[in-house]
Amino acid sequence: MALTTRPGARHVQAVHSEGRPCLFIDKDGTLIQDVPYNVDPALLRFMPGAGAALARLQRAGLALVIVTNQSGIARGLFTREQFDVLQRALLQRLQQEFSVTIDAVEMCPHGPDADGNPTCPCRKPAPGMLTRAARALGLDLSRSWMVGDTLDDVEAGHRAGAGGFLLRSGGETVWRRGPLREPDAAFDDWGALAAHVEHLVARQAAMP
Ligand SMILES: [Zn+2]
Repeated sequence: MALTTRPGARHVQAVHSEGRPCLFIDKDGTLIQDVPYNVDPALLRFMPGAGAALARLQRAGLALVIVTNQSGIARGLFTREQFDVLQRALLQRLQQEFSVTIDAVEMCPHGPDADGNPTCPCRKPAPGMLTRAARALGLDLSRSWMVGDTLDDVEAGHRAGAGGFLLRSGGETVWRRGPLREPDAAFDDWGALAAHVEHLVARQAAMP
């Protein structure tokens, strides 16, 4: 585990907000193993330690929100109804196997432009899904984090005013850098991430 906390990072500031802290979770390559454009529930495989880590963080008081780009819908590779079936299976398995209740799932069905940039306010690295969930659930983005396997996930977290963690599971291949794309911390596994976030939550709670 390598920690790279930026100077002035929001999670070391005193916080007096009423909103809940949240972990925003990328789906493919982060929560579950990435099977490109899969909507077959039979092919769902959790990343090692993901379910247990989410159970720990739920107990620590975090809201849990899945935030996922699903351009396969815009590309005509599957329908929203097929995605809904997959989503129901995923949430049911998290509940049954780990007693984890996901507070919300935010999904972007739109495609990128020819350069790979979002054409909508919600496709990561845009922050629209995070800000939408924050409004709906009363979340405190300044005490929240996005975790994903790509720097687009990190950037989406930062653009929303939250932190950004990288799970090094091999999903990032381009490594396009930028000031919003530097992870606050990077982890090789979910257990290390959960321990780090528990520490941050405890430190926030101890703030005057
Ligand atoms: Zn979108």
